[in-house]
Amino acid sequence: MASSIQLINPATEALLQDLRHSTVQEVDEAVADAVAAQRLWAALPPAERAAALRRFAAAVDAAVEELAWLEVTNSGHPIGQARWEAGHVRDVLAYYAAVPERLLGAQIPVAGGIDVTFLEAIGVVGIIVPWNFPMTIAAWGFAPALAAGNAVLLKPAEWTPLTALRLEQLGLEAGLPAGLFRVLPGEGAVVGERFVSHPLVRKIVFTGSTATGKKVMRGCADQVKAVTLELGGKSANIVFADADLEKAASSAPGAVFDNAGQDCCARSRILVQRSVYDRFLELLEPAVKAVRVGSPAEEDTEMGPLVSAAHLAKVASYVPDDSQVAFRGSAPAGPGFWFAPTVLLPASRGDRILTEEIFGPVVTVLPFDDEADAIALANATEYGLAGSIWTRDIGRALRVSRGVESGNLSVNSNSAVRYSTPFGGFKHSGLGRELGPDAATAFTETKNVFISTD
Ligand code: NAD
Repeated sequence: MASSIQLINPATEALLQDLRHSTVQEVDEAVADAVAAQRLWAALPPAERAAALRRFAAAVDAAVEELAWLEVTNSGHPIGQARWEAGHVRDVLAYYAAVPERLLGAQIPVAGGIDVTFLEAIGVVGIIVPWNFPMTIAAWGFAPALAAGNAVLLKPAEWTPLTALRLEQLGLEAGLPAGLFRVLPGEGAVVGERFVSHPLVRKIVFTGSTATGKKVMRGCADQVKAVTLELGGKSANIVFADADLEKAASSAPGAVFDNAGQDCCARSRILVQRSVYDRFLELLEPAVKAVRVGSPAEEDTEMGPLVSAAHLAKVASYVPDDSQVAFRGSAPAGPGFWFAPTVLLPASRGDRILTEEIFGPVVTVLPFDDEADAIALANATEYGLAGSIWTRDIGRALRVSRGVESGNLSVNSNSAVRYSTPFGGFKHSGLGRELGPDAATAFTETKNVFISTD
């Protein structure tokens, strides 16, 4: 029996639709179709595969507005942000459309013949994504996977499947072969686990919590199945006394409260050199209070609601009544899953608000003494995904960048993700990298062929 889920608009709590979930049998049928479609796709001339991906990018471009409004109603993302996300999907597709004609192997000098390598498609790839950035994270997987000649089965998160389902249609409208790119909404324990256990799904790309990621990795081990993991984060925003404090403080709210803090790269621990700690808090307070929290349908809204009632309850549990709140921003009253931007002062360096991923609009501010202390504090977490370093000393910027155990750092900026640069985490934040010039090779097997000339 197929289960279903009621999709709720997080800003209004209105029911959007009751969506039926895919069953294990439907997954198995989709895998069989994908196996056949992948053989045909990989056999097409490279220029034809490239052209199909460019048409897919053009179809997404024509649907940016439609996709953006789906994300507003399904996920509560502010419309300005949602438009950026849809445009990003188009850009990721356009970037990887160059891959089919540039998937270069090597020719290696050997005795008695020639030796060449081929980058062969893996086959069918299963992509499992979370609810926080439903379409962008999906595209980081499906665009390079398709470009490398694979078929893709995509499982969106239970709460946020609507943009993924529309992207599946756009792919078909753009001329992708039927069965090559399928979206299967459903439960993690049903559809997700079947991706992992099905022997003909030869790679899993999983983005989500570290706990589920470990389970997925254990499942993949049974079949020696390739796996990429993009997991949680607890990233540091390190502000040295010599930094442009005004700029660091005015941009800190965006670095943690964008997408209501539901961002694996959120700089949720602000570490400030002790000599400028009080001054930094003075500058931070008006910046936090100025964050425009409200209806995601309004053009100037900067922060919308949390994704669901269950997630709101989880975030609120990190801010009990006796929390040391430095200051808070605002949030609308009435229906919707609202939580005001909140700045906390931790009770000690072992406080769980400093070590656990809250995944909401909550940030801690903590003083540090010197460069060594800053690096030690930044690394005092099992995670290692992103981070920022604010200083005018270029030597220090480089030393600290090398010292922080994290996959994505920005100096005098909080930017984290560009489709043309690699993205991924150290330690419990993940395994493997997405995006950047090499992403498609993660969807290939290297085959070495020696040809004798004797
Ligand atoms: P989650 O782990 O609960 O779910 C993620 C996905 O896994 C969902 O589609 C879910 O249905 C599926 N799933 C659940 N159980 C499964 C199972 N047993 N087998 C296979 N699939 C299963 O995570 P979430 O709450 O949806 O997302 C939030 C988490 O994602 C946060 O920890 C966040 O940091 C992380 N995240 C990481 C990145 C990154 O790139 N590193 C990006 C975004 C989000």
